[in-house]
Amino acid sequence: MLKITPIPALEDNYIWAIHGQSDTVVIVDPGEAEPVLEFLRSNGLRLTAILCTHRHRDHVGGIAELRGVYNVPVYGRSHPNNPHITHPLQEQDRLALQGIPAEFEIWELPGHLVDHIAYVTPGAVFSGDILFGAGCGKNFEGTPEQLYRSLQRLAGLPDETLVYCAHEYTEYTLAFAVHSEPDNTAIRQRMADTRELRAEGRPTVPFTIALEKATNPFLRVDRAGLIEMLEAHGLADDSPASVFAALLRWHDQFRLPRKPF
Ligand code: ZN
Ligand code: FE
Repeated sequence: MLKITPIPALEDNYIWAIHGQSDTVVIVDPGEAEPVLEFLRSNGLRLTAILCTHRHRDHVGGIAELRGVYNVPVYGRSHPNNPHITHPLQEQDRLALQGIPAEFEIWELPGHLVDHIAYVTPGAVFSGDILFGAGCGKNFEGTPEQLYRSLQRLAGLPDETLVYCAHEYTEYTLAFAVHSEPDNTAIRQRMADTRELRAEGRPTVPFTIALEKATNPFLRVDRAGLIEMLEAHGLADDSPASVFAALLRWHDQFRLPRKPF
């Protein structure tokens, strides 16, 4: 089992640290450098590689400064607007990192950005901004259908797989989850559990694929109740990808309550 530590960064990002042998560490999506440098200093660790899920600033913003201190490889999907990648990856690549007792399979997951990837290993996935606790990433590039397929692919991982996403959003994504499915007791329970964790300042990430399948509206688009409700609001085509696209539109119109933390 990998030892993985969250490094909170920016407003609500997690930079994940994957611990290797001999006090080495690999980090995922360093949106800023200082919290990583402080984490390395205070724990006596040495950085050996950087993994990148996608090129948004809150995921790559710290890479240049970190590489000024540690001249380490940066893995990720190459893209003209991502100057940071030294070791390009693509679908089905297998990545073994020095000192890390696991191998990662690369999955291309378009739908947030076209060049978004995830790092998949038995028991864990680093999924960036595709799947959040009870929510999903914004569809900035590509089609809603691509985002739907990317989410479905993650949902196909074994139930016990831990999802290490890049943001602490669960407390307010759950507001829409409750709104979209008011009589789902698993969602209400998750809301209570999440409030308790956040009140104690603890992360709600990682979470399991099983919990997402039970509570994440974006993984629950085959529910008859949802399809009926969307049809009453003009949905003509009840294919899962169309239901998903309609759910995204509904979500975007939903007024999130004020950020509760
Ligand atoms: Zn992003
Ligand atoms: Fe992000």
